[in-house]
Amino acid sequence: MGDVPRVLSLLLAVGLLGSIGCSAQQRIGGHRVPRLWVQQHGGVVEGPELARAQRVASVFAEAEPAIDVRVLDSNLMGAFSWAPGDVYLTRRLVGALDDDELAAAIAHELAHLVQDGHLDMGPRTLVTPVVAEPEARADRLGRRLLEQHGVAPEVMVEMLASVSAGVQRQPATVAALARRMKALRSPPAP
Ligand SMILES: [Zn+2]
Repeated sequence: MGDVPRVLSLLLAVGLLGSIGCSAQQRIGGHRVPRLWVQQHGGVVEGPELARAQRVASVFAEAEPAIDVRVLDSNLMGAFSWAPGDVYLTRRLVGALDDDELAAAIAHELAHLVQDGHLDMGPRTLVTPVVAEPEARADRLGRRLLEQHGVAPEVMVEMLASVSAGVQRQPATVAALARRMKALRSPPAP
């Protein structure tokens, strides 16, 4: 069917095994996220979690094409982005974050899509931070997106801290998140 996602970046391979995952994925051709992938990640939930996620995401309404945010019925801590503008957040992640932190998680995913050339967030995002590591780059651009949309940029670090608190039993994940928080607090490499 040609629906196999191409994983562009994956924070941690353990993402699908019980920890946090963040991956930017691209379907080759077409614009719909494969139903099988959604099913494998628990299917989508509606109701208050979806309403809240979509309300928070509405701050990024000028994205072109329009973004679509969904909540996966998954007890893992994770976020995923699909070209051109689909963002999937797990139910557990949504439950672990406050509204600003949720905006930070969405901004991080949108940053992946902008950096991969799928999404246009306007001329304000043309300057891409020079950071080698994909997750750190998305954190930095996501932080800029937050600032441009009236959300305190420090929330990006707070979001990562909240995620870390939720995955304390996974030392490798905690260490990776700590590196990202440290990178956000340091100036970018030249
Ligand atoms: Zn990411």
